[in-house]
Amino acid sequence: MPARTWPTIVAHADMDAFYAAVEQLDEPSLRGRPVLVGPRSGRGVVLTASYEARPYGVGSAMPMARALRLCPGAVVVPPRFERYEAVSRRLMAALADFSPRVEALSLDEAFVDMTGSEHLFGPPGRMAERIRAAILEATGLPASVGVSATKYVAKVASAAAKPHGVEIVPPERAAAWLAPMPVSRLWGAGPVTAERLRAAGFERIGDIAAAPPARLEAALGRAWRHFLDLARGIDPRPVARRRSAGSMGSDRTLGRDVADREDIVRHLTRAADRIGRRLRRKGCLAHGVRLRLKTADFRLLTRQRRILPTDAAGDLLAGAESMLDALIRSGPFRLVGLAAFDLERGSGMRQLDLFDGAVRGRRLERVVDAVDERFGPGTLRRGRDVSNAVVVGSSPTLDFVELEEDG
Ligand SMILES: [Mg+2]
Repeated sequence: MPARTWPTIVAHADMDAFYAAVEQLDEPSLRGRPVLVGPRSGRGVVLTASYEARPYGVGSAMPMARALRLCPGAVVVPPRFERYEAVSRRLMAALADFSPRVEALSLDEAFVDMTGSEHLFGPPGRMAERIRAAILEATGLPASVGVSATKYVAKVASAAAKPHGVEIVPPERAAAWLAPMPVSRLWGAGPVTAERLRAAGFERIGDIAAAPPARLEAALGRAWRHFLDLARGIDPRPVARRRSAGSMGSDRTLGRDVADREDIVRHLTRAADRIGRRLRRKGCLAHGVRLRLKTADFRLLTRQRRILPTDAAGDLLAGAESMLDALIRSGPFRLVGLAAFDLERGSGMRQLDLFDGAVRGRRLERVVDAVDERFGPGTLRRGRDVSNAVVVGSSPTLDFVELEEDG
């Protein structure tokens, strides 16, 4: 991990040719063929063209009749929005495992605020790969991920990464990276503004970044400052938090399948400890807990329930254990995951004190937090963790395989 980290880290995840990719996923005979999602009638426009159709010059928003003239071999598939929404929910849930701050822009793209999470997910390049792998695992579909210090640059980066790639733009390189792009890539520059900019002699984003303000103002009026900031990679808008979208999770594919309740609970305990620590550090309370288990034959079982608002690992674990005991299906399991969801931010100690039972466990966990901070993670451990030397240790990956290797 680099010694110097970015002040903010924003990831933008965007599914590749989303509607068409869903159709190709659900109907194998469509795979590898040009697919146009849109009305069969030939009137109306293409909603999404698969990558196989794009070399013919077909793109979204093109009239269907024209698209079919350009690409006569294309298969036209009417859209199934309910299905796309279901896939979208899986996408957003997967993203919510990375951060409590996920801002959906549409069914198939979202910003994820990854600020300060290098210790959980690694440096930005690794974050991007992990997000892509998690999306592939959750949806079966490819996505592209851009990471930078601002929403704007992250979004341009994910577009540059397509298809199925990642693009990392460090903040100090953002302006230079944007410079050769056409002005139409500026956020908020529609066809009219772009044309006006070109007429004023601004072809590339770098031309804007270097322009004297007076010239910019003459071309853009009051919006000149907005475009100058974007051109320099400056975009102060934060990733919008929405409580319902928030979750924090910890999924681990295990080095060996586990079947004993005791083994499963040990993994859940570690996950609950980690999530509780993150909740407290972020000043969040969880209103729900979600249990995920994957059987040896790759079936994913998910259970979730509401809990009293908490940031205590003990409460998360209690919720997970009650769901585990209610499962009909028994192991062995190859993945054990826990997530806290429906997060509420900034409520802190006062509200928690309303819930008597939580207070004592939470005080203990605060002590553990303080010791971890001073002496390093893993200095203090629960008795039942220490009982098994395979799991215990300051390295978090003793018997864990990283998530991506499962995708
Ligand atoms: Mg997309």
